[in-house]
Amino acid sequence: MAADPDCLFCRIAADEIPSTKVYEDDLILAFRDIAPRAPTHILIIPRDHIASAADLTEDHAALLGRLFAVAARIARDEGIADGGYRLVSNVGRWGGQTVDHLHVHLLGGRPFSWPPG
Ligand code: 5GP
Ligand code: ZN
Repeated sequence: MAADPDCLFCRIAADEIPSTKVYEDDLILAFRDIAPRAPTHILIIPRDHIASAADLTEDHAALLGRLFAVAARIARDEGIADGGYRLVSNVGRWGGQTVDHLHVHLLGGRPFSWPPG
């Protein structure tokens, strides 16, 4: 689906809701999380509405390659690449997903424990 008018992140991608953008291109948008859980907390999303990682197919290969390359580039730009960082995409209720538009969290600037809670 190109865009869901009821979806928060589709509305952010359409500039209907303001966000602090750190990167955008024709396929991908990245913006700062409104409730950061780390000194750097950025959400990286496809512009198109995909509900979660559970909806991905091999047809999304190029999109995902771009998305992860963007994540690496932002991590370098934020100065967190050398120390290491966390990329995570929550799926469904038990996975902790609260916004049903695929997003990868880029978290950095502090150490993270494993496994997550
Ligand atoms: P999830 O819980 O689905 O993995 O992640 C959703 C994220 O979106 C949360 O970290 C939450 O803080 C963030 N978020 C929710 N609403 C907004 C908003 O309006 N703007 C921004 N920038 N982030 C949001
Ligand atoms: Zn959406």
